[in-house]
Amino acid sequence: MASKESKATRMLKDRLILETSRVWDKLNAKERAAVFEYAKEYRGFLDRARTERRAAAYFVETAAKRGFVELGEPKPRATGLYQLVRGKSLAMAVPGKRPMTDGIRLIASHTDCPRLDLKPNPLYEDTDLALLKTHYYGGVKKYQWVARSLALVGTVILANGDRVDVEIGLAPGDPIFVITDLLPHLGKKQMEKKANEFIPAENLNPIVGGLPYSDKDSDQRVKLAIMELLNSKYQLTEEDFTTAELQVVPAEPARDAGLDRSMIAGYGQDDRICAYTSFTALMETKRPTHTAVAIFYDKEEIGSEGNTGAQSRFLEMFLMDLMEGSGIEPSFQNLNRVFANAKALSADVNAALDPTYSDVFEKRNACKMGSGVTMEKYSGHGGKYMTSDANAEYAAWVRRLFNDHGIVWQTGGQGKVDEGGGGTVAKFLAKMGMDVIDMGPPLLSMHSPLEIAAKDDLWMCHRAFTVFFAS
Ligand code: MN
Ligand code: MN
Repeated sequence: MASKESKATRMLKDRLILETSRVWDKLNAKERAAVFEYAKEYRGFLDRARTERRAAAYFVETAAKRGFVELGEPKPRATGLYQLVRGKSLAMAVPGKRPMTDGIRLIASHTDCPRLDLKPNPLYEDTDLALLKTHYYGGVKKYQWVARSLALVGTVILANGDRVDVEIGLAPGDPIFVITDLLPHLGKKQMEKKANEFIPAENLNPIVGGLPYSDKDSDQRVKLAIMELLNSKYQLTEEDFTTAELQVVPAEPARDAGLDRSMIAGYGQDDRICAYTSFTALMETKRPTHTAVAIFYDKEEIGSEGNTGAQSRFLEMFLMDLMEGSGIEPSFQNLNRVFANAKALSADVNAALDPTYSDVFEKRNACKMGSGVTMEKYSGHGGKYMTSDANAEYAAWVRRLFNDHGIVWQTGGQGKVDEGGGGTVAKFLAKMGMDVIDMGPPLLSMHSPLEIAAKDDLWMCHRAFTVFFAS
């Protein structure tokens, strides 16, 4: 503030000029303590929910303790209902006082994250070492995955149909896996290559073993020894890999970051941070006016494809079943009424203005760490391609709701228009006729194995979602 500014000028500015606030400045001591407490629990969630299946399992388990039941179960006193699709996508609802055809409050997030999937024939031996072939999933910068601690997590269905959950590298004391990088002494040619070329996808092969099987007359002895280990621990045979869902993910737990512990650094915060905040908001929602629905989608990072993604008919199915359960005829016409009157948030993270890379951001419209939940009217790329641009009426309704409830919010975007862009599930929800807008916290190093969120943004996001469900 200019020191010579008159009181009248100050008042005029307060009335007319938009200023963003720091979340921290708006909190009292009790709220500041709550921020840190909430962040601690969130960290625990991140460590457990290392895959979409594990995120869904965590939510189902936690909700069940609070009286949620599976949709269709005859439990009239249930506090809420859920439906799980193939163990990965999950929808949860708290029934409202008004009929669903008067509109619902929907928050949609995603629980899949960029990672390395094992290929159907992953295990091989080369140069007396056993390695795994991987296929990256989602938008990864391949060089970020070499020379770091990795874990192997996922689900295998054995030949007899039994399901086995694999987890190696997460527990303290577990071995980890590493993808090698070339030593600088021999990396002269490598270092001259472009960043998207110097680690080719076919080099993303974690090393998983080095000891030979005892029979010296055999070949492929290291591979055989590793298969023997996998078989004794998980009953796996090599053929089981061909149908499995095994993911290579960062092994390290989420940690507090910064001397002031103001941030959380951890893998998978895009978009498990929105999944968690919308989940905890739903758990706090009691007898809302409108039915509150949280949906946690899989496959967002690869375009929301497949029968567990946002382009599937999961949401329609869930809402139809929910309508039927609440005594409303589950007709196509009624479903359309639900959609036409629905208010939705596409809950996803936003790229925070990074002081080290500020040149790709458009500073007047970028979101900042610690300035609250980010409202993004539209995402997409170029000439607003591939996005849903929220209607002014709806965007203003959300703005008013947040202002009325002391939610610290800011606007966000996808960087400078010519720099690139991205999208969320908003456009798939909009297609069904809902009003929808993008909402979520800012992240630094998004899509990296160690994404960074501000704890006060995390908490404000939870508060914003709570207020939205109660509207
Ligand atoms: Mn996302
Ligand atoms: Mn993403």
